[in-house]
Amino acid sequence: MSVLDVLVWPAKVLETKAVPVTHFDDALKAFVTNMFDTMLDSGGIGLAANQVGDLRRVVVIEIPWAESKYADQEEKREPWHNKRWVLINPEITKKAGKIRWQEGCLSFPEVYDFVDRAAEVWVKAFDEHGKLLEFHANDLFAVCIQHEIDHLDGIVFFQRMSRLKADIIKKKMLRRGLVNE
Ligand SMILES: [Zn+2]
Repeated sequence: MSVLDVLVWPAKVLETKAVPVTHFDDALKAFVTNMFDTMLDSGGIGLAANQVGDLRRVVVIEIPWAESKYADQEEKREPWHNKRWVLINPEITKKAGKIRWQEGCLSFPEVYDFVDRAAEVWVKAFDEHGKLLEFHANDLFAVCIQHEIDHLDGIVFFQRMSRLKADIIKKKMLRRGLVNE
């Protein structure tokens, strides 16, 4: 196992579009394992390869039921909770409804903002063995998939916020970067 470095904005790779995976080999499986290790180590629920400096269209997601705000209402538990999702070359084939969620991102430490997304998405992707997955996602799982596919397209969190808010946070992050150097 290895935990990779999670890159923080303004790393250029976060604003670069990733390319489709064409070889499903052992190296890819090892990379996926490292992505899960990295995500769990950072306390995230989703991670896109761009965030560890790799431009392949690879996403991992795991949403713990225990951390849900409904964790005391078992009937709200979804089949996608506590499941390791590997989404390679993911595509959204259909969207429905609207949902507004306060999102965070490992590449934007301490930044949270409400983002509008589709409430439900239908997804086509491959797992690390090259097997085709087709499924429907709702609620936080749908939000997370849309957030991670944005990463693969080189779209960062700022592009989903109001411009005013993005400008304030950008300045703050750049200032912090300069102080740390
Ligand atoms: Zn993110």
